[in-house]
Amino acid sequence: MDMPKIESRVFDALVVGAGFSGLYQLHCLRDKLGLSALVLEAGAGVGGTWYWNRYPGARCDSESHGYCYTFSKELFDGWEWSERYPGQPEILRYLNYVADRLDLKRDIRFDSRVKGARYDEGANFWRIVTNDGAEISARYLITAVGCLSTANIPDFPGLADFKGQWVHTGQWPHKGVDFSGKRVGFIGTGSTGIQAIPVIAETAAHLTVFQRTANYSVPARNAPLTPEFRHYVSENHAAIRRATRSTQNGQPFGIEDRSAFDVPPERRLELYEAAWNKGGLQFRATFRDLLANKAANDTAADFIKSKIRQIVKDPATADKLADIDHPYAAKRPPIDTDYFETYNRANVSLVDVRVAPIEAITRSGLQTRDGREYALDIIVFATGFDAMTGPLLRMNIAGRDGLTLAEAWRAGPRNYLGLQVAGFPNLFMITGPGSPSVLTNMPVAIEQHVEWITGCIAHMRERGIARIEARPESMDRWVKTVNEAADATLLPMARHSWYLGANVPGKPRVFMPYAGGMVRYRSICDDLVRKGYEGFALSR
Ligand SMILES: Cc1cc2nc3c(=O)[nH]c(=O)nc-3n(C[C@H](O)[C@H](O)[C@H](O)COP(=O)(O)OP(=O)(O)OC[C@H]3O[C@@H](n4cnc5c(N)ncnc54)[C@H](O)[C@@H]3O)c2cc1C
Repeated sequence: MDMPKIESRVFDALVVGAGFSGLYQLHCLRDKLGLSALVLEAGAGVGGTWYWNRYPGARCDSESHGYCYTFSKELFDGWEWSERYPGQPEILRYLNYVADRLDLKRDIRFDSRVKGARYDEGANFWRIVTNDGAEISARYLITAVGCLSTANIPDFPGLADFKGQWVHTGQWPHKGVDFSGKRVGFIGTGSTGIQAIPVIAETAAHLTVFQRTANYSVPARNAPLTPEFRHYVSENHAAIRRATRSTQNGQPFGIEDRSAFDVPPERRLELYEAAWNKGGLQFRATFRDLLANKAANDTAADFIKSKIRQIVKDPATADKLADIDHPYAAKRPPIDTDYFETYNRANVSLVDVRVAPIEAITRSGLQTRDGREYALDIIVFATGFDAMTGPLLRMNIAGRDGLTLAEAWRAGPRNYLGLQVAGFPNLFMITGPGSPSVLTNMPVAIEQHVEWITGCIAHMRERGIARIEARPESMDRWVKTVNEAADATLLPMARHSWYLGANVPGKPRVFMPYAGGMVRYRSICDDLVRKGYEGFALSR
């Protein structure tokens, strides 16, 4: 793809990242506010998550009619999804459709990774440098770098000497990986692993899954969309948009307003059975208290564990898969196609690395602490991401007086609403830590943040305001609010969760996303705008 020429090195706004967030932010700044704006993107194309995560089985777990932009009816009407949960290639095509339809690519510089950003207080400009030496200045710096864009590759000794091939699911080779006839080792059983394992098992000679954390999963029941459902979607743009804006997690379905204990046990089982057969994330919506009350959660957890034992024929394997150490949905709840069934295949085996941790990667495979060696041709790391803070910290952002974001966040991310940090004027973060982000259907959270930032910049320009930044005391209050919101749920009980940063050695353990729900969050953001951007310092 041709690189857009940078006619100017000075822009009103610089956006980092060309996924769902960056594309919409560019459209708003350029086409609605008339600003000069540039997007810098490390990848060679648009799509973000859906550009990078090309592993077999990659698909979304939000339902297609909710996993898209809704800000434009024309854009919504001009696209038709094929499946309940579209696969990565289709979502990538969708984001290219959006970028082309809105003519965005001419203002995106691809293969361009931001490696430094410094606030120049005298000039009130951000000075940004990229990996290829470009230097760009912008009044507003907006990070659209995603919550899950920095691959977390565990530092196993010996990996460099492995003579087979190794891949991380979040950096999947564009030419694909040929598993046929290969002995494959698979590390990681989160949402990604649960999607990829059944597909890789179909062609690998043998697949060995190394499981540290057993996980719940509910069948996705993915299927092509029926003509009737497509018709419903095409006729109901406004209703779908309203629905995703009225639910706590931005999904187009609501959570039932009943406790797990409002119904007798037999009825509860019937309701779980119906939800299991319907499939998808709606399982979580069966009762309103699944994430608030441990006893209620246990009823769902026990139901899923009993399903695992029914599906998996080998009792020892079923035991390992059902030995789950956290409440249901306290980690990102996966949905699957034949995940547990895959362990009935003769070419699949499960190793519990809680019992015997991975000691090292050897030249020819992998060794566990009990002295066992597994000969492997390919190792797949589905080990997730340095989530939420990783991509932000890697940009080496320095604010006023040279204060780096890494210093400001040494004890964990501190900000106001996930949007702004004191000492970093005119820096806005789309779906930053402290916002609902990964606990929601993300296009909804992204549209809300992009529109809030756009409104804020418009407000500043109309009133001649040069700078906006969070007040330190607002950050203190917000950090407390984020902690209280998490503590009101069972989410912090998943001690090994990436929501807490626990998957990255040395990362401060702080519950990062705001768990108070999208509706409440949106009303907080709107309310402080009505109060003249309460909690922010604005200066001329
Ligand atoms: C496998 C997978 C499945 C998912 N499924 C769902 C789902 O079903 N529902 C849901 O709501 N969410 C899902 N998500 C979350 C998903 O990340 C969001 O839905 C959404 O795609 C995020 O868009 P974004 O633009 O904010 O970030 P991203 O899509 O992550 O895009 C960020 C972009 O920023 C670029 N970037 C980062 N740092 C730099 C830098 N320093 N310089 C230049 N460019 C940089 C990256 O290259 C990337 O292209 C999934 C995530 C993964 C990984």
